[in-house]
Amino acid sequence: MIAKRISQITPSVTLEITAKAKELKKQGVDVVNFASGEPDFGTPDFINEAAIKAIREGFTKYTPATGTPQLKEAVCEKLKKENGLDYAPDQIVVSCGAKHSLYNLFQTICQEGDEILLPSPYWLSYPEMIKLAGAKPVVVKTDMQNFTLELGALKKAITKKTKALILNSPSNPTGAVYSVELLKKISELSLEKKLLIVSDEIYEHLIYDGQKHVSIASLGKDIYDLVFVVNGVSKSHAMTGWRIGYMAGRRDVIKGVSSLQSHSTSNPSSISQAAALAALKEGSACIRVMAAEFEKRRNAMIEELKKIKALKAIKPGGAFYCFVDISRTGMKSVDFTKKMLTQIHVAAIPGKPFGEDDYVRLSFAVNIPEIKKGIQRIKDWLS
Ligand code: PMP
Ligand code: GLU
Repeated sequence: MIAKRISQITPSVTLEITAKAKELKKQGVDVVNFASGEPDFGTPDFINEAAIKAIREGFTKYTPATGTPQLKEAVCEKLKKENGLDYAPDQIVVSCGAKHSLYNLFQTICQEGDEILLPSPYWLSYPEMIKLAGAKPVVVKTDMQNFTLELGALKKAITKKTKALILNSPSNPTGAVYSVELLKKISELSLEKKLLIVSDEIYEHLIYDGQKHVSIASLGKDIYDLVFVVNGVSKSHAMTGWRIGYMAGRRDVIKGVSSLQSHSTSNPSSISQAAALAALKEGSACIRVMAAEFEKRRNAMIEELKKIKALKAIKPGGAFYCFVDISRTGMKSVDFTKKMLTQIHVAAIPGKPFGEDDYVRLSFAVNIPEIKKGIQRIKDWLS
């Protein structure tokens, strides 16, 4: 009854556990939610106002399927100003979240049997999206000291069938940030082997210790042609529910993505597009405030985690996740997170669907008192 391509995928564990934690909280249970993959801040008011204005002005009809000209123009300006990238509006597609952009992209570039290189630990939706596009995810384990790719391992994984490589810096679930030097080496290898690069830059603004995000597409004209930049406003502007993401890249693929989107979702919500336009045009101050707060929270979480002997955590350079080694507890990740939620009401995501069963992902998209409370609970529980 159910098609094979659907029966071979698993539902999103991140969304499932986050919904469960929110539900428990609603029922009055004192849950500390380290599962959440979204900023806990409200969407800034000026963005909400832009959406309300759009509704009042009747901006409630279909827009062009790939997004309004104004929003695509604003995306081009953003990519130029912040990333040093030159794109024209016909190289942009705005979709219903970066997840949708990625889905569309894999549907468009993958042929049956293509291999897509997936650095592990990976965000759990990538392998499922690749499979849905008929291709094969080929996992390349990163250097587990800093969770970035090793060139040797990457080279070894490339075959005649390799079509593309996924890069996600800063990374979900590890928070790893790729250095410019490493990006240059990856870019040289990709040019030599003619690999496409899917560069998911959704966490670009959540980057700490004075580092600056560099898009691999900005490293030269040749590599620019091979890269698809995926980004959105969900994480940068606390707009996860609005569902606006976008991609930029070469015109032939963008044309294919546009065609696919025109027959599937059509345009993303007109109202959300008006909100995203305000976010991109006037949002840089609010981004800085939220990123500074996330950095404080990261420091607090790492400090607290250090006090737990059974756990090992590397300080993440970006995003809002600590990917914590639990191997010394003797538990595997699903068991660990299940017990932790039922016994001490602390929610987290098991590492298993991210490709690492000896790890769990703790999100610091919660305030510092909650971080302290949650980690103290884990400390008492494990001792
Ligand atoms: N990429 C990564 C690595 C993510 O963590 C997320 C979070 N959901 C997304 C893409 C998609 O974000 P959204 O669809 O909300 O724009
Ligand atoms: N990306 C976030 C996470 O990893 C949100 C949930 C999802 O889209 O998977 O938790």
